[in-house]
Amino acid sequence: MKKTLFTFGLLAVIISCNSTRKASVSGEHSQTEKTTKKIVFIDSATVRKHLYTLASDEMQGRKPGTDGIEKAAKYIENEFNRIGLTTFSGLETYRQNFEHKGIKMFNIIGVLEGKSKKEEYVIISAHYDHLGVKEDGEGDLIFNGANDDASGVTGVLALAEYFEKLGTERSIIFVAFTAEEMGLVGSTYFGKGIDPSKYVAGINLELIGKTPSTGSNTAWLTGFERSDFGRIIQKNLVGTGYQLFPDPYVTFNLFFRSDNASLARLGVPSHSFSTTPIDIDKDYHQVSDESETLDVSVITETIKAVAKGTKSIINGKDTPTRVVIEETNK
Ligand SMILES: [Zn+2]
Repeated sequence: MKKTLFTFGLLAVIISCNSTRKASVSGEHSQTEKTTKKIVFIDSATVRKHLYTLASDEMQGRKPGTDGIEKAAKYIENEFNRIGLTTFSGLETYRQNFEHKGIKMFNIIGVLEGKSKKEEYVIISAHYDHLGVKEDGEGDLIFNGANDDASGVTGVLALAEYFEKLGTERSIIFVAFTAEEMGLVGSTYFGKGIDPSKYVAGINLELIGKTPSTGSNTAWLTGFERSDFGRIIQKNLVGTGYQLFPDPYVTFNLFFRSDNASLARLGVPSHSFSTTPIDIDKDYHQVSDESETLDVSVITETIKAVAKGTKSIINGKDTPTRVVIEETNK
């Protein structure tokens, strides 16, 4: 395994955001918007740190039941704690422990309580497990899973920090799911313990580290036509220079191949954002899925786009339509 020196690009990102919205007293829908400058804490240096840490050789491919995934879990827990998230209802720590096929597993869950609609939840998730270490062979044996899905967990952490600073109207449940690679095990377990009617939307991040076939500053969304979630995001991204497209790889059935599906099966409009040209990606589920193969700016810009694109949902202004799943996929 090669070691790479890298420098941290200390680019503080300043973007403008609509910090206050006032409804007019006339009863019409016209609104005045006051725009102020705010320092937004989604920067490439932090993104790089999360990514390179989670996908490091030390994490040994983050397979459930190993010391490697324990290290990854601790990193995520420390970050949730530093950011100031609270624990999920019924849990005393960030860990949601359970056992599957004799293996002790845990989702890592942090909560940001909303202000005016705290009983309405938006989930922001990614899976922190991966495939572990190859049992035999020579050379590099570690499945680092940088794109799959350290990139997504990086997004969860960065968004947790961003929304904690900003404050939100709905509550956000940030989840790093375990055992996605073993068949959406962690998210299925999570889904069994919730009241889905309280979950307004699911934002799942998968493989957000490579430039998509649609070009830079674009991403695609799985199950685009299954709710109006994607159209809400598109509306919010108008004028930002970033575009969201429907999943171009429909024959890959990606909507049902990531953790968003576990909540979608319960009716929650829950979709995965991705940027990777999965049809030609040589690193997918290979030991070559390393941080060095990713573009940190793609991850950073995508996280920012997810923040801007989902803001009207997180602030209770938009509520996406529910997902209906045909019987054959239940
Ligand atoms: Zn994945």
